[in-house]
Amino acid sequence: MAKLLEGKVAIVTGAGRGLGRGEALCLAQEGAKVVVNDVGGHFDGTGTGQGPADEVVSEIKAAGGEAVANYGSVSDFQAVKVMVDTAIEKFGQLNIIVNNAGILRDRMLFNMSEEEWDAVIAVHLKGTFNCIRHACGYWREQHKAGNNLKGKLVNTVSDAGLLGNVGQTNYGAAKAAIAALSMIVGREMSRYGVVSNCVAPMARTRLTTEATPSMAGFMGAAVPEGQFDMQDPDNMAPLVAFLASDLADNVNGEVFRLLGNRVWLLRGWHNVDTVVKSEMSKWTPQELDSAVKGMLEKAGPQEDLTSMMMQAMGGG
Ligand code: NAD
Repeated sequence: MAKLLEGKVAIVTGAGRGLGRGEALCLAQEGAKVVVNDVGGHFDGTGTGQGPADEVVSEIKAAGGEAVANYGSVSDFQAVKVMVDTAIEKFGQLNIIVNNAGILRDRMLFNMSEEEWDAVIAVHLKGTFNCIRHACGYWREQHKAGNNLKGKLVNTVSDAGLLGNVGQTNYGAAKAAIAALSMIVGREMSRYGVVSNCVAPMARTRLTTEATPSMAGFMGAAVPEGQFDMQDPDNMAPLVAFLASDLADNVNGEVFRLLGNRVWLLRGWHNVDTVVKSEMSKWTPQELDSAVKGMLEKAGPQEDLTSMMMQAMGGG
């Protein structure tokens, strides 16, 4: 039986560790040739190293797959062009980009430096734009030349942006913006056979155990051998493989959260309620006071990250 991603070429960014590592290994196991991108830095984005990407490439090759390392930063527009060109030159084409690379610089907004803001936006939001931009230019060109490569974009978002999390304005804003970027690019590119979706992980990696104290409390230790580990980062990979495959040709502009054996379909801004003034005239602030508060009361409290995590971990 042919493998799910036989004949496909994928780039996975930030694939040297954590979620990206498992995703790269899984895509390769499913038959894709993989560009394993990782800058090899600390979780705050400082430092570089070739070790993490090289190790994943070795693991893929040892399992009989094909892979090549790339150490460029996703925040560098030209370096990302080189990464996309590497896939095409080395493996003949590009079909899949998994935008996964990420860093954290958590800080309450009133203490956040400009550099902490810029660094996080640069890796997550601009990094995702850079990869999407180069890939979509290529896919559109190929499609016009009669070659539908069925491009698949899988972009990594977070509840920090979808629900909001204290101390993460930079990161949450970037992740919420990626969800919007993904939806819009899915609409722009569907005519060229490209779809774009997001995944929101919840897993035990250095970003949740070391970099985010508010999340660390939810992250248990690895479970004993033989038991299902709900927080194993490798649990995310099959969803990414599905979204990267031809099975997902008609899945576009969606956001999925995954924890262990549970997958959520998430949809963002939507009408919850509406009030119309009885006369055809402008609202006054005082009238809006009762109209707005009436809607808020009916709607109930917003879901937040803590209540969602309690529910998810409790299996409710
Ligand atoms: P991780 O730190 O284990 O892995 C991230 C990898 O990205 C690292 O190997 C790092 O070197 C690499 N990287 C960082 N900046 C880069 C850059 N500029 N260019 C290329 N590579 C770069 O973290 P993780 O938890 O596996 O995170 C992966 C993604 O998942 C991130 O986008 C993160 O925001 C997102 N996420 C994770 C969780 C979770 O529960 N772990 C939850 C929500 C979202």
